[in-house]
Amino acid sequence: MTRALFALHFESMKISLEFLGTGTSVGVPMIGCDCAVCHSADARDKRLRSSAIVRGHGADGSVDTTVLLDTTPDFRYQMLRAKIRRIDAVIITHFHADHIMGIDDMRRFNIIQKQVIDVWGTAKTLESMRKSFGYVFSDTLRAGWPSLRAREITIGEPFQIGCMTFLPFDLDHEVIINTGLKIQHTGIENGPSLAYCLDVKRMDEKAFAALKGTDTLVLDMLREANHPTHMNFIEAMAVVARVKPRRAYFGHIAHEISHAMFEARLPENIRLAYDGMLVD
Ligand SMILES: [Zn+2]
Ligand SMILES: [Zn+2]
Ligand SMILES: [Zn+2]
Repeated sequence: MTRALFALHFESMKISLEFLGTGTSVGVPMIGCDCAVCHSADARDKRLRSSAIVRGHGADGSVDTTVLLDTTPDFRYQMLRAKIRRIDAVIITHFHADHIMGIDDMRRFNIIQKQVIDVWGTAKTLESMRKSFGYVFSDTLRAGWPSLRAREITIGEPFQIGCMTFLPFDLDHEVIINTGLKIQHTGIENGPSLAYCLDVKRMDEKAFAALKGTDTLVLDMLREANHPTHMNFIEAMAVVARVKPRRAYFGHIAHEISHAMFEARLPENIRLAYDGMLVD
């Protein structure tokens, strides 16, 4: 293989992320709200609950591995809208309603793929899932039921799904510990990393250590005003200033934020995520 051809193939191996939802727990527009953002005609102000698809691409650029981050109450519509036809595994970041309530609809993928699908979470997350949704777990494929195989995440220990490696770390979400993820392509040694850090109020030194060298950072940024369990704008900007990623995308956004007006104030390398946004 010539050097140029090799470079081309190397370039094709990548990770991409598609935002399926970028809203806070109640979504935007909010039920019963008459504010300007909830009535905005800008599609970027319509935010389903927060979720993303991460894809690992092979040397020819085709998708090798598809991993879903969280199963929101909007799961069904998100899958239809983004035309998702395959999910190799799901990672549940934490046991909050806006991140788990769509799990039952995973059974469509069991039927389409004719296989049991792995669902990853920390011991604590899986324990809570078993209490509320015990019936979704099964090591064998069942008709009419979700068939999800529980896979335990150990904080600090990287795990592999297809061509991607995930490094999990704790995020302090005040009322619960959320799982942050640093994602890399297994085929590219020391390749660029993508970090997914939603639902966080503050980060400890271990989280900052895990985020060292992050290329693309997806970060919680609820609104400008302070909030007990989510980062506001000032707190999110402080994390970006310390991690120094090449670029950052803010997510889990509330109705106080007008996409067009707010983004105009941001530096070029920091963007507001919107539903359907694709990041390579
Ligand atoms: Zn949330
Ligand atoms: Zn509103
Ligand atoms: Zn949460």
